[in-house]
Amino acid sequence: MTDQSILTTCPYCGVGCGVHAEVNLKSHQASIKGDKNHPSNFGKLCSKGSALGETIELSSRLSEPQVYGQTSNWSETLDLVADTFSRTIKEHGPDSVAFYVSGQLLTEDYYVANKLIKGFIGTANIDTNSRLCMSSSVAGYKRAFGSDTVPGCYEDYELADMIVLIGSNTAWCHPVSFQRIRAAKEANPNLKVVVIDPRRTASCDIADLHLPIAIGTDTTLFNGLLHYLQQHNAIDENYIKSYTEGFESALKAAANHTELSDIAQYCNLAIADIETFYQWFAKHKKVMSLYSQGVNQSTSGSDKVNSIINCHLATGSLGQPGMGPFSITGQPNAMGGREVGGLANQLAAHMELSDKQAIERVATFWESDNIATEAGYTAVDLFDAIYDGKIKAVWVMATNPVVSMPNANKVKQALQQCEFVVVSDCVAHTDTLDLAHVKLPALGWSEKDGTVTNSERRISRQRPLFEPAGDAKPDWWILTQVARRMGFEHAFHYSSSADIFREHAALSGFENDAEHGLRDFDISAFADINQLNYDQLQPIQWPVNAENPQGTMRLFADGVFFTPSAKAQFISITPRAPANPLSDSYPLSLNTGRIRDQWHTMTRTALAVKLNQHKAEPFVEIHPVDAKKYRLENNTLAQISSAWGTIIARVEVTDSQQQRSLFVPIHWTEQYASSGRVGALVNPAVDPISKQPESKHTPVNIKSYQPAWQGFVLSRRELTFRQPEYLVKVKGEQFYRYELAGNDLPEDFTAWVKNKLCTAEVGTPQWQEYQDLSKGIYRASRLIDNQLESIVFMAPDSYLPERSWLTSLFIKDALDKDERSALLTGVPPLGTPDVGQIVCSCFNVGEKTILYAVQEKGLKTHQEVGQCLKAGTNCGSCVPEIKALL
Ligand code: SF4
Repeated sequence: MTDQSILTTCPYCGVGCGVHAEVNLKSHQASIKGDKNHPSNFGKLCSKGSALGETIELSSRLSEPQVYGQTSNWSETLDLVADTFSRTIKEHGPDSVAFYVSGQLLTEDYYVANKLIKGFIGTANIDTNSRLCMSSSVAGYKRAFGSDTVPGCYEDYELADMIVLIGSNTAWCHPVSFQRIRAAKEANPNLKVVVIDPRRTASCDIADLHLPIAIGTDTTLFNGLLHYLQQHNAIDENYIKSYTEGFESALKAAANHTELSDIAQYCNLAIADIETFYQWFAKHKKVMSLYSQGVNQSTSGSDKVNSIINCHLATGSLGQPGMGPFSITGQPNAMGGREVGGLANQLAAHMELSDKQAIERVATFWESDNIATEAGYTAVDLFDAIYDGKIKAVWVMATNPVVSMPNANKVKQALQQCEFVVVSDCVAHTDTLDLAHVKLPALGWSEKDGTVTNSERRISRQRPLFEPAGDAKPDWWILTQVARRMGFEHAFHYSSSADIFREHAALSGFENDAEHGLRDFDISAFADINQLNYDQLQPIQWPVNAENPQGTMRLFADGVFFTPSAKAQFISITPRAPANPLSDSYPLSLNTGRIRDQWHTMTRTALAVKLNQHKAEPFVEIHPVDAKKYRLENNTLAQISSAWGTIIARVEVTDSQQQRSLFVPIHWTEQYASSGRVGALVNPAVDPISKQPESKHTPVNIKSYQPAWQGFVLSRRELTFRQPEYLVKVKGEQFYRYELAGNDLPEDFTAWVKNKLCTAEVGTPQWQEYQDLSKGIYRASRLIDNQLESIVFMAPDSYLPERSWLTSLFIKDALDKDERSALLTGVPPLGTPDVGQIVCSCFNVGEKTILYAVQEKGLKTHQEVGQCLKAGTNCGSCVPEIKALL
């Protein structure tokens, strides 16, 4: 029985899928489906979106303000925050304080944060984790178009003749967009799909051509393409002449690499593959270039973006259906953050801090006499300034920089030594929150009320499903209360998110005309929106103004851009190598990225049991040749080191990885893995234009990690361990899994295990134990009334049983005799199925189940596997893996 049916928006990636939630208020549960009418996903959700209902539990929430470790009330806490910021500003000036915010904030929250610090505190020391995600795309668009404008939309996937995925594992990072492209290709087999990525990712599943490019050489590939287009009469001279400037200089700069053999050698690609890609690009007008972190997270990220845009300008492939350079944003509201000016170099409403008239305009609109006039610290510099003691009070909102920033150990140290650290978050523990002097409980996804903007400029509503948890408050409310206490009451009179949205919309239209200069971002049609219409707001793409009251699917069809000359700009690109070269000490290049079923620092997705099954531990992918060279075996542990830090991860040997490079996912934090925080390894070099860090290349070394013992504990109850060197915690269906390794062996295994596991006796325990101390092997199981309570396996190496059958026993009320007998072997009794590692999270289908069905029933296609087992038939994210098994 549900109480309400609510349409809202997924809080994870930039696809911005519409969600249909059936809410049961009494049980605080929601059943989640895709919103069939939302134009960004038409009812589809990926594994993460589908599992949203599992992440809304309340036990992990921060539900009351906390000050120096003590529970407090809002009034005193807000007084303390406002007083401390005011005092710090008085003593050390406005640049001694900073905000570090997030693409997880709603646009309304973001707007108030930006207004408070830039408009009234008088410093632009606010940056956002979107700096790490897509600031190179912002810089690239602004250099080319004079504005941060995504020209196209998702409908172009179906209308394109060729889609190029550059530095984007869309299949895992933007799965619903990937499924849409897959469907477009199935409907139109002539649609060419090219994947440009150093790794052979799941996205290559639908590729007609994969270019496994050497890391950091994209500008050479696209400079070569520009030259090729010109040499092969594939440029649109009329478009170049009428609507662009700078073609000749860009071509001249591109002349360094014109021979295919030269480009092939530099980019480590086959000549024939480059030629095929160039021929296809030259042949098709309707080309979409989709790019994300592989392009952006680079010290030449802005140049990579412009080298791609140059090719679209040269062929006139822009502004019409089925074409254009399209940056896929990583976060749910990265675009909203750009709209309100969340980056340290921006003002609100797509205005710039480098533009004096814009500063005056915003100051007039906000009625402020203390607006910031210069750009503030960008993310890496901001935490360096905290480390150096220049910033003495910082407020972190809805993000986890101790995990996600490069050189993350320095970021941790910076916050540890900062005089005043405030963190707003919805969960009780994160690596960053644990360092805060003041903890502010913010709303979670299922309680938020406001708007977000996705990759295609589509504004959608996030609507609350439940009342706030405990004393949690909206971020905009917390900011407003602090602003009022700092003396800015007149400018922070908001009583609802609709109030803020109206003001944001009004500013977007303020002096946005031919007289003062046109700006791309304009949602002035909403300047007077009433509460009812705000509540019922349908997904819509900006600009939304008097001219385009129904929104705008595409921009630049008329060839008019937002540059002073109204012409798009070619940018001359001189390729540069990544900032930190490989060396004898650090001979491998570390690449980082997302995995299919986790989101960012796992604060929410790790709560969903089904999302923890696909990849349970931090891992490092390595090519077989390198694995042999460094004496690493699959499924063993390895220590990876850079000049900035060290981590331990599980080895996955795969030829999808290039030689001399490693891949480690970004997600694991100290809450779930004692040594898996990859940000600690990542170098802090940034792009000189966008200031985006180079998270796709850090010189590292790798060696086998050989502790005295390894093992795992499965327990029905949550346990605590005195941190061994390697500890990973995974939440499962009615159990917790702990992967452990260390050098300190317990003197008495039995005592150690009983001490760990016998925390709460609720019945008569039945023990089974096996040990061979000469070999360092110990195994034990503990049942209560024949129900499995816990099980331990320890060994001197990683040759331990698979966990899948053992973990499946926790859902049973009682084990039968055969199961009990087999427990300490770790192998299921004869005839008992073992599903193996989970491939399809939606339907809990494991690798062994699929392989068995394939062999027994002669299944040949992923569709047949779907018909037989349902695997791959919901979100489709696992289809590439099913195909790999086939
Ligand atoms: Fe959410 Fe998945 Fe859609 Fe991204 S693709 S918005 S994570 S459901």
